[in-house]
Amino acid sequence: MLEHDVIIVGGGLAGCRAALEIARINQNVSIGLVAKTHPIRSHSVAAQGGMAASLKNVDDTDSWEAHAFDTVKGSDYLADQDAVAILTQEAPDVVIDLEHLGVLFSRLPDGRIAQRAFGGHSHNRTCYAADKTGHAILHELVSNLRRYGVQIYQEWYVMQLILEDGQARGMVMFNLVNSRVEVLRAKAVMFATGGYGRVYNTTSNDYASTGDGLAMTALAGLPLQDMEFVQFHPTGLYPVGVLISEAVRGEGAYLINADGDRFMANYAPSRMELAPRDITSRAIAYEIRAGRGANIDGSHGGPFVYLDLRHLGKEKIMSRVPFCWEEAHRLVGVDAVTQPMPVRPTIHYCMGGIPVNTDGRVRYDEDSFVEGFFAAGETACVSVHGANRLGSNSLLECIVYGRRTGRAIADYVENRPLPNVNEQYYIDLAEAKIKQLIQQPGKYRINQVRQKFQDTMTEYCGVFRSEELMNQGLEKISELKQQYAEIYLDDKGNKWNTELVEALELRSLMVVGETILTSALQRQESRGAHFREDFPQRDDSKFLQHTMARYSPTGINIEYRPVTITMFVPQERKY
Ligand SMILES: Cc1cc2nc3c(=O)[nH]c(=O)nc-3n(C[C@H](O)[C@H](O)[C@H](O)COP(=O)(O)OP(=O)(O)OC[C@H]3O[C@@H](n4cnc5c(N)ncnc54)[C@H](O)[C@@H]3O)c2cc1C
Repeated sequence: MLEHDVIIVGGGLAGCRAALEIARINQNVSIGLVAKTHPIRSHSVAAQGGMAASLKNVDDTDSWEAHAFDTVKGSDYLADQDAVAILTQEAPDVVIDLEHLGVLFSRLPDGRIAQRAFGGHSHNRTCYAADKTGHAILHELVSNLRRYGVQIYQEWYVMQLILEDGQARGMVMFNLVNSRVEVLRAKAVMFATGGYGRVYNTTSNDYASTGDGLAMTALAGLPLQDMEFVQFHPTGLYPVGVLISEAVRGEGAYLINADGDRFMANYAPSRMELAPRDITSRAIAYEIRAGRGANIDGSHGGPFVYLDLRHLGKEKIMSRVPFCWEEAHRLVGVDAVTQPMPVRPTIHYCMGGIPVNTDGRVRYDEDSFVEGFFAAGETACVSVHGANRLGSNSLLECIVYGRRTGRAIADYVENRPLPNVNEQYYIDLAEAKIKQLIQQPGKYRINQVRQKFQDTMTEYCGVFRSEELMNQGLEKISELKQQYAEIYLDDKGNKWNTELVEALELRSLMVVGETILTSALQRQESRGAHFREDFPQRDDSKFLQHTMARYSPTGINIEYRPVTITMFVPQERKY
């Protein structure tokens, strides 16, 4: 059996930052980092616009308190304010630390780190590396892990969390190259498995963002928190859904409808294009619904609006957001220097996740924690984003809470024995499951079921939700679960069997999707990204609470836990 003191699943920013911290604290701790992709192909590498911190390089009136207030208001008051205080207080320090590690941030003329405007932030505080910030940070982290000798298991798919007697003891994984199954045991297991964008049919996320960590946690009988809060990014490039960073609006681009109007004046007059994402995405959806969207031929009534950069001029476009220009040019043939880009909302981010405290320890319920289990990054819910995340706060969360979780783990594993694990039992279980998927006759191809499932989630649990719609959605999902039981694989081999991985990922998508729908159905109010047409108001008297959804094969049980409010009393949210 393979063993390490610590195993971290996930080679994105959160997992890598945690591993680096443990290695820095104690070089004798043996760390294994597992990822189903190569670590630098984790979705973090695609992060564009930047990372928020009140460095005060551009605006010396900024402060951590202002950053905290913006974050809490942006969250529609659902964020836990103790966690937000930590996030915003530690932000300047983690940015400087990354810069010392070698990350090439963009600069001001005097050499200090530059900072740009971002949606929902009251000051210019987003640090960036042009529009390739995730790329710049992840490469430095991964090369540092290699320097410290962290053992990286790349292209291994983790398929089960081993949880016995309230303690995480390890996990089961299989090698994508040759389908070999292994059990890995450890004193501490950390999930940093990222988001679930592929639950929907149009997303800015990569193909690997299938919510595996969330599903494995749910299937182990542990709760998931606030899963109904799904972020739509306002500017997905139409029709592909690929992200055009908010940095483009941070640099001054306009959103215009088919009439050429800057319609944000009707929705968020004080912030215009830099309103938070929930408000901006809904505004675009309303414009499209009202027939003021555009078609490719420029006529009215179409499925997208425009993001207009033309007034920024070629030099600014090419120096500040060159990658966004290139994406539009390459994918839809638009030259943003002379033409507006077609955009509409695209699924972008998972506000909910595995519930953790501010040291990354996973909650079993309101009063207790799971031994040996930690989580950070997009898959975790600490909760700093509440009902709606502000742009450039996610990279920050990965780094701040990745570092904190690393510290907590380094402390946790000291003087602890390795847990006992019955290796053969878990290998037999995993091999039987793989064999069954490969051999079952089946009626449906994976991509048929996946496409129907993604369409269902998009249609029945999108920007606008209602009880009637969501009940229909849940019915469709139970039909699709039957179909999943009857999928068949064409590839029966054991070399690079990507179809097998897709089958396992589809199971993750379906567990996560059902949890999102059930949590959303129970929340009879509108807050942040969760908008109910049948309950259009926020209802603090009933729902100023975190949802805790516990999955079981017979259904999902919903409970609530309190929100931590230490600094800012909830108010009506206006921009
Ligand atoms: C296009 C885009 C642009 C963005 N831009 C910004 C931005 O400018 N600023 C900002 O703050 N945020 C941004 N975000 C959000 C931010 O990038 C992500 O939330 C963050 O990078 C997530 O990091 P992570 O470490 O949690 O997970 P990820 O980077 O998604 O990494 C997940 C890791 O888990 C591994 N994994 C998952 N499942 C398994 C499994 N079953 N077995 C083994 N390994 C597994 C994957 O291989 C991967 O290594 C952006 C997101 C997107 C999609």
